[in-house]
Amino acid sequence: MTLPSHDTLTAETTDVLRRLGVDALSADGDLPAHSPVTGGELGRLRATTPDEVTAAVAAAHDAFLEWRTVPAPARGQLVRELGLLLREHKEDLGALVSIEAGKIRSEGLGEVQEMIDICDLAVGLSRQLTGLTIASERPGHRMMEQWHPLGVVGIISAFNFPVAVWSWNAALALVCGDPVVWKPSEKTMLTALGCQALVREAIRRVGAPEALSTVILGDAAVGERLVDDPRVALLSATGSTRMGKAVAPRVAARFGKLLLELGGNNAAVVAPSADLDLAVRGIVFSAAGTAGQRCTTLRRVIAHESIVEDLVTRLTAAYETLPIGSPLADGTLVGPLVDEASYRGYSDAIAKAKANGGTVLVGDERVLADEAPDAFYVRPTLVRMPTQSEIVQTETFAPILYVMTYRDFDEALEMHNDVPQGLSSSIFTLNVREAERFVAADGSDCGIANVNIGPSGAEIGGAFGGEKETGGGRESGSDAWRAYMRRTTNTINYSTELPLAQGVEFGV
Ligand code: NAD
Repeated sequence: MTLPSHDTLTAETTDVLRRLGVDALSADGDLPAHSPVTGGELGRLRATTPDEVTAAVAAAHDAFLEWRTVPAPARGQLVRELGLLLREHKEDLGALVSIEAGKIRSEGLGEVQEMIDICDLAVGLSRQLTGLTIASERPGHRMMEQWHPLGVVGIISAFNFPVAVWSWNAALALVCGDPVVWKPSEKTMLTALGCQALVREAIRRVGAPEALSTVILGDAAVGERLVDDPRVALLSATGSTRMGKAVAPRVAARFGKLLLELGGNNAAVVAPSADLDLAVRGIVFSAAGTAGQRCTTLRRVIAHESIVEDLVTRLTAAYETLPIGSPLADGTLVGPLVDEASYRGYSDAIAKAKANGGTVLVGDERVLADEAPDAFYVRPTLVRMPTQSEIVQTETFAPILYVMTYRDFDEALEMHNDVPQGLSSSIFTLNVREAERFVAADGSDCGIANVNIGPSGAEIGGAFGGEKETGGGRESGSDAWRAYMRRTTNTINYSTELPLAQGVEFGV
């Protein structure tokens, strides 16, 4: 499968950026923007200085003071405009995701569709930010809870969902009354600028304060300015557990609010009754799709010993024929790894798995290296492991799937939960007892537990996030909006008396 020339790719990028209204590339910029498709540089951008970050947060805070008094349904109109602009520019923004993050075309478009979906959800939500009315123990009193805008939301995002994660945060934050300041991954800055151009146009159309959305560019040091700024009321950070461990104590030290979406190490239990045709399709999409670079990527299969040989035979056949190549070409299912460090992570993990008794069934192979020496395409790898050793318990952000076996269901659950991460999980079974137990309190300990589908590919209607080292945050649907608001409890006395709670007497 041939790759596009770097000149062709650069020309396409320039056209797409122009149509999105982005004019930020500069020859003397200090931040190179690369494409994993060819490994070449697409252009350069200027890093945001520390003073500019501080100024951006100050402007966002000023915008907050205005935006918080705008009625929520009117705030929803801004997100409605954003959703319309995303529909209009879906092809271009999706292409940019493919060029910059290496996702195959349909996944690039799917990511933009996810942004459109969350905008729709947030617009509806803008009329449903409801609180409780609570019965008071005191006569002539009423109690209620209200949800108010919180303040500036700082967003730090990872390369692998370069636009959707921002939109999950931004769409909810904006209807909740909060401005956003976004530090995207230094690997996917162009897509961030594309989003920023669209949201600024939406802001212009509804006449809202300009500083409701800002992008700051740079590495971890730029992110740290956001982390430490006391005017950032909520920091929503998506990335590795390593990043979360660096960021969380700093935000906690200033009593800021945190929403963490960190690494996963997701498994599928395949039971004796499983529909193996369905399981194989679910497993291959979840494990090899996005070249194994999703937080919800399937990394561990825990298969019953009675079906493991059949399953492994089918998986091996599917893996051997997976089309690997340019994510922009029709028919490709597996695009590139994001960079060389990622490739090193892939090779090192496979070497460790082999040292721990693992047998590679397919993979452990770099492909297309002659054609694109600066790009890193690999064959998705299937490794049979005797036990769940340390490397299996580690998230390697690459397409490596470890297959292990179990004898009884309790053992499967124990192996399943015996990792530090707790994002997503799945079981393939036609046995209702196993299915229900897997999603029950003593089943999977993850934030997402699926039956007869793989662990990846969530819809925006449900709350998204996970437990343990995944960080405990929830984004997207359900009641995730509450993280972006502050709650007040109000007691209103409409009587002429002043009774005290708990019958306390205080006669004055
Ligand atoms: P990363 O941790 O290297 O970087 C993520 C972001 O954090 C980047 O913008 C980076 O500049 C910033 N950053 C890093 N250190 C920082 C610091 N000390 N202070 C402030 N900012 C800092 O992650 P990545 O390689 O871009 O993405 C892959 C990881 O993200 C995987 O572990 C994956 O599981 C995780 N992820 C999780 C979710 C989720 O929802 N749980 C979603 C996507 C990705």
